[in-house]
Amino acid sequence: MAIAIQNEPNAQGQPSSSAVSLNAVPILPAEFYLEHFLSEGAKAKKHNPIRFLFKYESTPGLISLLAGKPNPRTFPMSSVSLTCADPWDHDKELSLTVDPDLLSQGLQYSVESGIPAFKDWLVGLQEREHGRSMEDEGWKIAVGTGSQDMLSKAFAAIVGPGDVVLIERPTYPGAITALQGLGAIMVDVQTNEEGLRPEHLQSIMENWPSDRPKPKALYTVPYGGNPAGTTIPERRRKEILALARKYNFLIIEDDPYYHLYYGEQERPASYFSLEKQLASATEPVGRVVRLDSLSKILSAGMRIGTATGPASIIEVIDRHTSSANSQTATLTQAMALTIFQNWGYDGFKAHTKFVSAFYREKRNQLENALRKHLTGLADWVPPCAGMFIWLKLHLNTAATSSSAQNDPEHGDSNELIRTKALEKGILLLPGTVCFSSGEVTPYVRMSFSLVDEAQMNEAMRRLREVILEARGG
Ligand code: PMP
Repeated sequence: MAIAIQNEPNAQGQPSSSAVSLNAVPILPAEFYLEHFLSEGAKAKKHNPIRFLFKYESTPGLISLLAGKPNPRTFPMSSVSLTCADPWDHDKELSLTVDPDLLSQGLQYSVESGIPAFKDWLVGLQEREHGRSMEDEGWKIAVGTGSQDMLSKAFAAIVGPGDVVLIERPTYPGAITALQGLGAIMVDVQTNEEGLRPEHLQSIMENWPSDRPKPKALYTVPYGGNPAGTTIPERRRKEILALARKYNFLIIEDDPYYHLYYGEQERPASYFSLEKQLASATEPVGRVVRLDSLSKILSAGMRIGTATGPASIIEVIDRHTSSANSQTATLTQAMALTIFQNWGYDGFKAHTKFVSAFYREKRNQLENALRKHLTGLADWVPPCAGMFIWLKLHLNTAATSSSAQNDPEHGDSNELIRTKALEKGILLLPGTVCFSSGEVTPYVRMSFSLVDEAQMNEAMRRLREVILEARGG
């Protein structure tokens, strides 16, 4: 038996894949990421030397004394059964049992990027949803402990102290803290009711000072944004992608609300999809790192999210996982795969349709309550995806901070939420945490996921009282 053991990636972390275009879709080459994008920390990250050899263990006839894997005969669990909904009829239940081979992977140490069969299923899903073929386009997928894990690892792959990242204003607080932890410099791009404004992005890049390091990436939540609830239209996405190509930055597309799209219009294509649709010899694919999550459609506690994107970046993420947490829990991957294999891709789609219809109904209920109680006291834009409404409170000086003006445009929701609203028994997210500078703002974020219609009405009635008292009337 002859087994060729590949060399580990070199000390500089030179990615092992070489994304050479052998086909019709031009791909950015591996060196490109090393030259322009990988952080110093990422370049220094090496493979776990034991895990690097895991893949050879399945070689037929090989006797492995390699890893410190516990003997599964000592594990007390011998089967895992679960009950889940029929995707076409959520009132019906399906009884499923995790296949024994899959269960043995689910109970054991495994490769850091995820159970191979689970990744294969997810690759098929990406291919169907985004029209991207893994075969010939140089991308990979890694499974992480929720998309938050993949988000912070994707940032760490690219960003080190002093590196610049463009972010939406407002943005997801979990991204702000991840970037702060890396010492990144965040540059805000303005948004409006349609999300990120390409003309502002263009003006930032046009006027970028020549003596400052250029932005390495744009971080965006394109569907049902957290916190603003906006879904950016396709025409804007195209403009933003064109700017990424022109000014050479990556797009980190954080998309946990992708399947929660309930708009009337046809859904806009993802950046991951668009970069292929708009690829040309001078505009190759490989600029988008896409983050997906099963938290909103399967279970948040299973902690499964993925990063999909250029092999060079995903390989760095895998190296990070191998040193940080070895692998994402494989038992939940085995359970998720058992459900997905039973449902098939069509069943998965039927289930996400059910989920998005559920959130549409919730959105409608909260909007009714808002119209009833807060007309004239707050502004909002109804979302067409996700689970948030971003509410601008019309406050005045009476009960707000000293920086608030006697003007409905201004006010400090932070102080109000932490004091008066809590006293009245209502909790909302103060908008200030969604700004990189933590600025004073009259905005609050409301999640309509868990509350029922009666609670929504009562909450908006209480919020009305809070606003009226703040206005001094
Ligand atoms: N990104 C965004 C925009 C989110 O709203 C969330 C969840 N709050 C996450 C990432 C993390 O999701 P998870 O880790 O559960 O997949």
